[in-house]
Amino acid sequence: MKWSQFFIVTAKETPADAVVPSHQLMLRAGLIRQVVAGAYTYLPLGLRTLRKIEAIVREEMNRAGAIEVSMPAMHPIELWEQTGRVAAMGDVLLRLHGRGDDWRSRTVLGPTHEEIITEHARTYINSYKQLPVTFYQIQTKFRGEARPKSGVLRTREFLMKDAYSFHTSKHGPGGLDDGYQAMYDAYCRIFARCGLPYIAVEADSGPIGGDASHEFMVETDAGEDFLVKSEDGSYAANLERAEVAPVEDGKDGRNAPLTVVPTPGHTTIEQVSAFLRCTPARMIKTIIYVADGQPLIALVRGDHNVNEPKLKRVAGVLNLEPADPALIKNLTEADVGYAGPVGLSNVRIIADQAVTVMHDAITGANRTDHHLTGVNPGRDFEIKESADIREAVPGDRAKNGAPLTFRKCIEVGHVFKLGTKYSDALGATFLDEKGASHPMIMGCYGIGVNRILAAAIEASHDANGIIWPASIAPFRVIICSLDTREADVMSTSEKLHDELESRGVDVLWDDRDQRPGVKFKDADLIGIPVRITVGKKGLAEGVVEVTTRKDGQTQRLGVAGAGVELLRLLQGR
Ligand code: ATP
Ligand code: MG
Repeated sequence: MKWSQFFIVTAKETPADAVVPSHQLMLRAGLIRQVVAGAYTYLPLGLRTLRKIEAIVREEMNRAGAIEVSMPAMHPIELWEQTGRVAAMGDVLLRLHGRGDDWRSRTVLGPTHEEIITEHARTYINSYKQLPVTFYQIQTKFRGEARPKSGVLRTREFLMKDAYSFHTSKHGPGGLDDGYQAMYDAYCRIFARCGLPYIAVEADSGPIGGDASHEFMVETDAGEDFLVKSEDGSYAANLERAEVAPVEDGKDGRNAPLTVVPTPGHTTIEQVSAFLRCTPARMIKTIIYVADGQPLIALVRGDHNVNEPKLKRVAGVLNLEPADPALIKNLTEADVGYAGPVGLSNVRIIADQAVTVMHDAITGANRTDHHLTGVNPGRDFEIKESADIREAVPGDRAKNGAPLTFRKCIEVGHVFKLGTKYSDALGATFLDEKGASHPMIMGCYGIGVNRILAAAIEASHDANGIIWPASIAPFRVIICSLDTREADVMSTSEKLHDELESRGVDVLWDDRDQRPGVKFKDADLIGIPVRITVGKKGLAEGVVEVTTRKDGQTQRLGVAGAGVELLRLLQGR
């Protein structure tokens, strides 16, 4: 491909609104252009990489035995109503708006395809003989993300590879465990082939539901998730899920008497601890929720935060929302900011494990403008339920005692064991050997195709630009012709270009009449793994130069055998 006949738009300046490196570099290298918040045009260079990632994903899905289908972006809302996900998804589910009850009002844009694939399975599968089966697609998803961010890492329209497996059983041959493992293994191959430094971690199953899930994470400051790892490498989990070892009982209490103290106008942990001159760790934070329609109180230490996914699991509820001031007043007979567990009965209270070992603590008095000091769990209020319901924090240890470390990361893929949530809701059943009917057991598996692209740049770039892994580089080789007015330079370049191209190597030929500095800068910026420099000076000595983008190492090849030698070099890499 000749540069002069292709469409490449590089920029010197870093765009002001781009913060993370992948976003900056994708704009500067001319891979993408934002059309509206959260939706991008892929320019030719960006599209080439996207297509290469898709090809790797497709190959590995086929290799794992998954069967490709293509489902529409437009879905009938009825299916989403039947699974209860119109409510669960909230604003993320994008809806068309029509007049009254016309087709538009009954249509949503698919953020994911569990509903559609389950309806598909219901239609075509009725016997155990047709199972197990895994379908996949690479298709556009729409999500009303509140804050599209960091270029293509989080957009409102994006490409997902989503796969869904159907089984007759959870365990045993052909069961969900096997299907899940096959996808897990395929994901490892996909991310490795894309050159991504990834780590698979235990994850929360979120609103999709189900009993096991892993996320594939890439460490980067551009991420919005936190990866929690034990220092000994034995444990890794998403912060949403990460379990912590119990806090030990410091036995530091003096069993002070329970005392009501005035704290006028002081409602937050910071305000009260400053006013009463104590550390936040001495306070019990009392958070009131509405869980599946019922009030639920969570107690955590003042310096800790409730981990809502954990709390939901422990409480066995699907929906958790903060209580409104009216409900808080009703339960505590106080304004917001003065709630505490002492004297609160008739409401379910779940205490974090760290609260159970507190002594002489401080908490709200359930009286406006007042708190209690000398609060001792067990003596002053009963803890009926306690569990690990808080977020891990620096200083915490894993269950095996190893210290935990925290790193920002981005999720590139996710595998779930779904069970029968969707087949139950939509009536997707099969008949077993004896003719009895059962819901199909399902797994679902997603990969963010665009995110792989951005994550690969996050993981591999330098001050000069992108450093593409060879497997997903838009071009494998760039030929930089210096002195383009020299016939010899152009004919040698063309010969090399044609030779490489005929051997299936993606090669970009920078045939522009530009200064060497401009060409080298652009080649570095767009990150082509191997650069061949053809110039008048080199040719006079009978050589061309080969430079590796990654380490800048240059070697000289004799012009005569340069093509063959290069092919050997590329294969060796
Ligand atoms: P996140 O927590 O980052 O929002 P998610 O849990 O909502 O991700 P899934 O529903 O599991 O994501 O979707 C499968 C994959 O699709 C994710 O692993 C991610 O790579 C990709 N993905 C999800 N949301 C977006 C988005 N808004 N933009 C780009 N890719 C996305
Ligand atoms: Mg999301």
